[in-house]
Amino acid sequence: MSSRSCLLAAAASLLLAAPARGQAPAPTTRELERINWMEFREVVPAAVDTVLVPLGTLEPHGVTANGADIIAPVAIARAIAPRVNAMVAPVVAYGMTGSMDAYPGAFTIPEEAYRPYVKAVLTGLARTGFRNIILVNGHGGPQTAVLAALGVEVGREARVRTLVVNWWSYCADVTLEVFGEDGGHAGENENAFMLAIDPALVQRERYSGPEMTTANPAPGTWSAYPAPSSIGLYREGQGFPTFDPVKATVYFERVNDKIARLVEDTIRKWNLIDR
Ligand SMILES: [Zn+2]
Repeated sequence: MSSRSCLLAAAASLLLAAPARGQAPAPTTRELERINWMEFREVVPAAVDTVLVPLGTLEPHGVTANGADIIAPVAIARAIAPRVNAMVAPVVAYGMTGSMDAYPGAFTIPEEAYRPYVKAVLTGLARTGFRNIILVNGHGGPQTAVLAALGVEVGREARVRTLVVNWWSYCADVTLEVFGEDGGHAGENENAFMLAIDPALVQRERYSGPEMTTANPAPGTWSAYPAPSSIGLYREGQGFPTFDPVKATVYFERVNDKIARLVEDTIRKWNLIDR
């Protein structure tokens, strides 16, 4: 390239990079660990005042990854961030695993450590300028109650708006729609979600059928430690994995679409309150 065309190219790229008058620049990345402080200052909150925070844990999941509860919410956040105009915070990966912490590669963070740590993460995000903090949770059990309580606490104390979404239960209707039956922990729906993210995350040849699954106990009926299976069906006889790659893609897209709609709708309504 000649020096003249070099100069022209440089001028053109400057023009492209410059924001239109009165318009904040679009971020070069949606990920908080990839942005530098100068760009962050330009973007948050002027152009982007929403942050998606994925949360998970390490827990056995049948024939898919111990980190399924980490990988899924990260994938959701990355998929919907441009549509809902949000940044994506680094995942809070370690969580409150519960009765599956006895399985190889799993462990749990006690609530006394988890609760103040997550609270500090959310408060920190509020302090950096985000107004809408969306928790995309990948893990059930007592973690959901802790996150719901923290959402209220941090919202009130830091004067921000918070939304907590437990993706698998919020999208239980999508599971019914796509698979014609209910799912389960590490069941049909969760394996499908992982397959859609990366087929290498699911080792279907290790699946030995219904004997490696147990239906979740109805409340107050029984409990066991460790949980007898790492695949826990929500409803007896439903949700056995079939590893259908076509349904997996459809499921992934519909789940993300439903969660994006919830985030958009909630923010729109929050803005009506503060008008
Ligand atoms: Zn899971």
